[in-house]
Amino acid sequence: MNVKAVRALVTGGARGMGRHFVEAVRDAGGLVAFCDVDPTAVTEASATLGVPGFACDVSREASVQSFYDAASAAIGVPNVLVNNAGITRDGLFMKTHPETGEPIMMDLARWQQVLDVNLTGPFLCARAFAAGSLRAKQPESVMVNISSISRSGNAGQLNYSAAKAGLVADTVVWAKELARYNVRVGAVAPGFIRTPMTEGMKPEALAKVAAGIPLKRLGEPDEIWLAVRFIIECGYFTGRVVEVDGGLVI
Ligand code: NAP
Repeated sequence: MNVKAVRALVTGGARGMGRHFVEAVRDAGGLVAFCDVDPTAVTEASATLGVPGFACDVSREASVQSFYDAASAAIGVPNVLVNNAGITRDGLFMKTHPETGEPIMMDLARWQQVLDVNLTGPFLCARAFAAGSLRAKQPESVMVNISSISRSGNAGQLNYSAAKAGLVADTVVWAKELARYNVRVGAVAPGFIRTPMTEGMKPEALAKVAAGIPLKRLGEPDEIWLAVRFIIECGYFTGRVVEVDGGLVI
């Protein structure tokens, strides 16, 4: 599908990579609408980018359906979904108190929150999107799921690694189940990319990360957009993951 023919939904589109994807689709001549969880950020991004934006928490069923309906009214039945919204709540699965040696466990809320946004969110968005595509009998639809190289299992990111691995498994299932309805599904697994998510890290930690990357730098949102665009445009791509990580292996 040529990106000019796209009517795209981008989740988490007010900031970071999602915001870049919104701008990129708009600049390429496609139609695009986005959602984000913070209404103030949505209002700012929508006004600045000149693109319809909607407040939505992707982990909540009713919120996702309202976003889908409102966005469809604004740009027409969507034929591209970029499941981009995501959060990190990093921490060790288990550590010990330095004095008492008592185990300190990852709490359930930290686990659940990341699974809710990063795995249940894409499930709810994919469901609304695929149902809409089937109802409209679209000749072609494409879903792009933003996973992470952490899906291989990154220490300190148990919750995030589980969600991002699950999202790749779901990518394969959706690709197999939905091919008969002309829906293609791909995933992108970025390494460390320069966005507000990584800008929150300490500069020393970021420098250490960059030193361990073969290309010796963080990636740029536009380098992830190239992979998203490839999945949208390549009609023979489905059920696979594109890794864009500067050669970093976790
Ligand atoms: P970001 O800068 O934090 O942007 C993510 C956006 O999603 C934010 O605007 C965030 O809002 C929003 N969001 C959070 N929870 C949401 C919810 N429940 N419903 C709707 N929107 C929600 O992150 P990013 O770095 O651009 O990351 C984008 C995607 O790439 C994520 O899935 C992330 O896991 C993945 N990724 C990032 C990197 C990286 O190095 N940056 C690497 C690999 C994968 P708030 O800011 O208000 O929370």
